[in-house]
Amino acid sequence: METASEAPITGDLRERIVTDLLAWYLQNKRDLPWRGASPYGVWVSEIMLQQTQVATVIPYYLRFMERFPTVKALAEAPFEEVLRYWAGLGYYARARNLHRAAQILVERYGGELPTEPGAIESLPGVGRYTAGAIRSIAFNQPYPLVDANVARVLSRLFGVSGNLHSASTQARLWHLAEQLVPANEPGAFNQALMELGSLVCIPSDPRCERCPLLAHCVAGNAPDPTAWPETPSGKRSIPAVHSSALICNEEGALLIVQRPPHGLWGGLWEFPRVVCATGETPLEGAHRAAREVAGLEVEALEPKTFRAVQGQVAPLTRIKHGVMHYRITLHGYLMRPTTSVVPQEERPKAWATSEALSRYPMPAPQAQLREAVLNRLHTPLHNAQPCLVFEETNIPPYAKKP
Ligand code: SF4
Repeated sequence: METASEAPITGDLRERIVTDLLAWYLQNKRDLPWRGASPYGVWVSEIMLQQTQVATVIPYYLRFMERFPTVKALAEAPFEEVLRYWAGLGYYARARNLHRAAQILVERYGGELPTEPGAIESLPGVGRYTAGAIRSIAFNQPYPLVDANVARVLSRLFGVSGNLHSASTQARLWHLAEQLVPANEPGAFNQALMELGSLVCIPSDPRCERCPLLAHCVAGNAPDPTAWPETPSGKRSIPAVHSSALICNEEGALLIVQRPPHGLWGGLWEFPRVVCATGETPLEGAHRAAREVAGLEVEALEPKTFRAVQGQVAPLTRIKHGVMHYRITLHGYLMRPTTSVVPQEERPKAWATSEALSRYPMPAPQAQLREAVLNRLHTPLHNAQPCLVFEETNIPPYAKKP
């Protein structure tokens, strides 16, 4: 039997949803820097917004567009520089695809985004959602789009049951979006759906009383609107412990290594890091990171005194962050090298001074480690506890600077 969400949307209902939503959008849309942008600006913003909050994206978007204002400027820039402007946004394959796609656009389309069917979809990193966004927002073509916000709104509006990530539910949501998108103002309508999901139909606390679609909404007129969409059972985040060695040499430079070009954080730089094994303490992990990744035996330094310590020592900092379904605690230990060994991994390495360190693109949690270590190394010694005795030879040169 056909359910409400599978039945075609009647012309009358469709018209009322479109009219009510567009009227609300006109009054309530946020003033975002990519509203009314060029097709290139729309494309960049849509790629940045994948898996990333609007507030996080805004400063990155502004800096990126200032440095790479056109497809040609992006295509001609070295990828290292593109990465530097992306560092901290996460999901770095997006930057690689954007850069590669810009080069293809210059080679085949004179640096313009093409409008012919199938052309945008063939670019690296452009899936059905991004193609729908570019076509509707930049070119005003009646293409639908479904992102996480739209999926939630549509599942509540039409009472769509089933796991949102399943192929069959996705197909139903896309079919609904396809029926709704109007021939006039498709871009405004798609942005309105996303804006409603961000501002009103929020995941845990939908503000149904001020929603323009309440009169048409299945969930909004049910006892618990959050019963949609269904939460997949058994999806829990998994805790993990990572440890990084913050190795400082006699000259006060810090050792960093470059990640392999592909995969998570591909091509970015980090302090030598391992995922701690079961039963391995974070300090043991940091020693292993130094040995296996950097090819150095090290001794740990007490963060307040910079004294070498045998046995337990506190980390300089702990940083909590999430990657996919992992809840990660990253420990960073101050260390100094004692002897060289053969590393298990051959990766590009650099001893970076504090000035140079900030020029290396790093993933967000590693950039937080960088900030912590530079803050510590620049802290004047008189801030340390007076009962502690400093051994001059243990003090990295940075610590001597006020
Ligand atoms: S009425 Fe409530 S549940 Fe329905 S779309 Fe609006 S905010 Fe979401």
